[in-house]
Amino acid sequence: MTTWRNWGGNQTAEVDRTLSPGSLEEVVGLVTQAAADGRRLKAVGSSHSFTAIAAPVQDQVRLDRLTGVIDVDQDRGRVRVLAGTPLYELNPTLDRLGLAMPNLGDIDRQTIVGATSTGTHGTGAGLQGLAASIVGLTLVTGDGSTMRIDERENADLLPAARLGLGALGIVTDVTLQLVPAFRLHAVERPEPLAAVLERVHELADENRHFELYWFPHTDRTLTKRNNVVDALHPGRPLPRWREELDDHLLSNVLFEGINRVVTWRPSLAPRVNQVSSRALSAREFTDASYRVFCTQRTVRFTESEYAVPRASVVPVLEALRAWVDSSGENLPFPVEVRFAAADDLWLSTAYARDNAYVAVHQYHRMDGSRYFAAFEAIVAEHGGRPHWGKVHTLGADRLRELYPRFDDFVAVRDRLDPNRTFSNPYLDRVLGA
Ligand SMILES: Cc1cc2nc3c(=O)[nH]c(=O)nc-3n(C[C@H](O)[C@H](O)[C@H](O)COP(=O)(O)OP(=O)(O)OC[C@H]3O[C@@H](n4cnc5c(N)ncnc54)[C@H](O)[C@@H]3O)c2cc1C
Repeated sequence: MTTWRNWGGNQTAEVDRTLSPGSLEEVVGLVTQAAADGRRLKAVGSSHSFTAIAAPVQDQVRLDRLTGVIDVDQDRGRVRVLAGTPLYELNPTLDRLGLAMPNLGDIDRQTIVGATSTGTHGTGAGLQGLAASIVGLTLVTGDGSTMRIDERENADLLPAARLGLGALGIVTDVTLQLVPAFRLHAVERPEPLAAVLERVHELADENRHFELYWFPHTDRTLTKRNNVVDALHPGRPLPRWREELDDHLLSNVLFEGINRVVTWRPSLAPRVNQVSSRALSAREFTDASYRVFCTQRTVRFTESEYAVPRASVVPVLEALRAWVDSSGENLPFPVEVRFAAADDLWLSTAYARDNAYVAVHQYHRMDGSRYFAAFEAIVAEHGGRPHWGKVHTLGADRLRELYPRFDDFVAVRDRLDPNRTFSNPYLDRVLGA
């Protein structure tokens, strides 16, 4: 027996067996055997979800032998990639092919199917989450059958299977619709919260990618604007020393130290946030898109993130600020605010709705439960939909109200996994047993 643990350290599970299939046939064999024996199987990506969505009940299936790009269609800008491929391998491979994901999140540690299964997103008011790039996939369903789902075969299942929470089966490969590789010019700078909130919708619309980090207990933010530039743009990547200083020493080593100090003496958080918000000074650089999007995160934390309708972003932040100021909580991590466009995936937080995403974090050695509960109460008043991979307490009854196609998804699950081979307590909670 081994212990499965997620990156944030807030979820653990005892695992009977770890299975590492090396082919589609081996996945089919494992699922067929599990179905015959009545055992539960859980496909695990990089375990970067903060919820127990990837927690195995009996056996975990690791797809680290199913990695790499297996087909390239340059004419259509599509690649077929094995499900266990980590983004840190996929992104440079795509770049060498002259292709890129249209948008990415903050890190590249996730596997491609781990990321898409929970609705991982980046920022960009005109851009959708990562799962929207999937145009086809291969799925091994509860009885061990293999199913191709794309525009030609089983197309009716695409809106469920592209973002399936790991509830419909084991995905062995996905076909991604990509865009030509592009470079981004990044502009990052500290700005006062009030001034940013006053123009936040303009900023979201004017920039291909806009996000802000607000430091609780202060009126300071760090804003990030990333826009596409052509090959003639004179901008350069950050020099190695600056990348090392900002992204390694300040954002990780110093930030870890700060968090340890705040854990020891929480009341220092407000003063410390003043320092943190100043430590990351203004900077500009230009680089390949994936190098701009993804940074290193070595300071462990837990996180809750909700999608709210774009129009709610300012009221939500104002309510959160009022709560922080009156709560007595000490919060050393910034609040992250991002934007994304509506899509048509049934369980996407952006289903039929343009969103702002508000994310709250707590250092892993500190208790975030009171903060997360207060945040959850605030976003509940705005039809907030929780990120499937980040801490939340909602169950099927509330989620059914938030997702118009919820019952359609459950019907697909009943069809593809009637015996719940792929279920776990988290899925039982959010989808029903
Ligand atoms: C430091 C950090 C930064 C983050 N930044 C962002 C961000 O910028 N934006 C954002 O939206 N999220 C972000 N997240 C959340 C993260 O992207 C998601 O939780 C993502 O799902 C994790 O991917 P994973 O590979 O670790 O998958 P896991 O957490 O291991 O699994 C997630 C789900 O995918 C399923 N799954 C995995 N592989 C398969 C398969 N082959 N077939 C079927 N199901 C499968 C699992 O069963 C599970 O249901 C961040 C998380 C961390 C820890």
